Parts: sequence; structure tokens; C-alpha cells
Amino acid sequence: MAEDTCMKCGRKVTRDEKGLSKKFINRATQKYFCMTCLAEHLSVSESLLKAKIKQFKDMGCTLFK
Ligand SMILES: [Zn+2]
Repeated sequence: MAEDTCMKCGRKVTRDEKGLSKKFINRATQKYFCMTCLAEHLSVSESLLKAKIKQFKDMGCTLFK
């Protein structure tokens, strides 16, 4: 199985980053952004994305289990 890497910079993505990509781009996406590139793509800060991860986890979102 291929490792999942950021489609923009090629950095290996974490499970949380994959979850974010699914949440913000497409739930069925097979392409992922690392947090830095996703923040840039969405024109938001990385700290906002980190807060979102926490929020989704607190909500019990299955993408972040
Ligand atoms: Zn990246």
C-alpha cells in the first residue's frame, strides 16, 4: 500500500491531516494535503486547522478516531 503524501509538497500526511483533507475537500478524496498546504489552499491559518481537529475529535467525528 502506498504511503499517503501531501499532493502539493509531498510530505507524508498524518491521520489527522488526512481527516482534515476529507472534511474540507471531499470525504471520498484519495488526495491529501498536509496541514501547511491545506491552510494555504483554504486561506486559513494552521492554528485554525489544529483547533478544527480538536473540535472534530470532541464531536466524535469518525475521521479522527
Ligand atoms: Zn504539503
